[in-house]
Amino acid sequence: HAAGGRYPADAPASEALFDRARAIVPGGVNSPVRAFRAVGGTPRFMVRGEGPWLFDADGRRYADLVCSWGPLIHGHAHPEVVAAVQQAAALGTSFGTPTPGEVELAAEIVGRTPVEQVRLVNSGTEATMSAIRLARGVTGRSKIVKFAGCYHGHADGLLAAAGSGVATFGLPDSPGVTKAAASETIVLPYNDVAAVEAVFAADGAEIAAVITEAAAGNMGVVAPRDGFNQALARITHAHGALLIVDEVMTGFRVAPGGWLGLDPADADLVTYGKVMGGGLPAAAFGGRAEVMAHLAPAGPVYQAGTLSGNPLACAAGLASLRLADAALYRRLDETAATIQGLVTDALSKAGVPHRVATAGNMFSFFFTDADVRDYDGARTQDVAAFKAFFHAMLAGGVYLPPSAYESWFVSAAIDDAALEQIAAALPAAAEEAAA
Ligand code: PLP
Repeated sequence: HAAGGRYPADAPASEALFDRARAIVPGGVNSPVRAFRAVGGTPRFMVRGEGPWLFDADGRRYADLVCSWGPLIHGHAHPEVVAAVQQAAALGTSFGTPTPGEVELAAEIVGRTPVEQVRLVNSGTEATMSAIRLARGVTGRSKIVKFAGCYHGHADGLLAAAGSGVATFGLPDSPGVTKAAASETIVLPYNDVAAVEAVFAADGAEIAAVITEAAAGNMGVVAPRDGFNQALARITHAHGALLIVDEVMTGFRVAPGGWLGLDPADADLVTYGKVMGGGLPAAAFGGRAEVMAHLAPAGPVYQAGTLSGNPLACAAGLASLRLADAALYRRLDETAATIQGLVTDALSKAGVPHRVATAGNMFSFFFTDADVRDYDGARTQDVAAFKAFFHAMLAGGVYLPPSAYESWFVSAAIDDAALEQIAAALPAAAEEAAA
């Protein structure tokens, strides 16, 4: 496992598992981007995580820059998070009643963010889907505005020009989403205030909400231009519509209060997920008490969940958030900057055109010479170069997101040994990307 070594291109144990999986699970995976289609090859089946490391079924060790797609700010199997889950499990896994833990988690979220009330759900998809229903219920309007390349989960109306796996596969949309559902969604270019002004001037009275990623991380990372989120708040409010800021990826990752803690904007509803579940399924949506009061049972807009506020997920989320103090965020920021520096140096030395894109401690590398401000810009990247780079990094023991359209994520567990392994893998990977 020494840094600087190379793992063989084949991975017999993962290949055997993938063969077995493909026979009984569509595409062999339970979420599309895991299948490695964007980069080719066999997905690695992971059996264990410890701190900054992932271990696959062939016993290989990788420095992890995916962190379960964002949740694991403390790395894998942090002892305090594991102990919290074990203690909660011993008391029973689910009650279908209110529990003290969900009140604690809600209080932690409300204490860190601008929202006054939150409803807990099980996934980011549920959070955004429910926030949109609430916005429609509150305004009595039907249309929503989203931005090309922003991913908000896989609810029908939000699967229009979405990023993430949809970007990876180049699907403009998905079969199974009805014309009626898609016709209620207006898709605009990200970071384009004039386009938002124009659509509200034309159709403002029919628009329930604008939904935007707090900072886009599903077309690679594309930060909002200065004032973009604030302009969205101004325009929506001028027309009696709501602003939904999706912090599923950024929330509790880029700062204690999420992106809105760094760059405040007057959001009516905010969605959270990933970090707040500490690696277990938990998500939330929240807003002003007066808006949230429209939700059942306080109000008429229905929303529910058998496992919502699950005690294990709440325990993991709480333990994770309580460990996330100012020092933790400084460490994440420093680690992200260190890795950006290492990658930039290697790519520059090898003469690979690239742009490093950042939003707080989230970042990604676009293999392009153009500045990226939106989805069209993101699509100028040389995906073949990324693919070569990805596989060389994997062989060098570094687990990157298996797609050029995803953010890289750091954890506070990344230590000198993990950084060494990353540094050692980079020169060969940069050469591969240049070839
Ligand atoms: N919103 C954003 C910004 C996301 O990044 C994601 C997932 O990556 C979602 C929503 C959907 O969350 P989930 O995968 O938990 O349904």
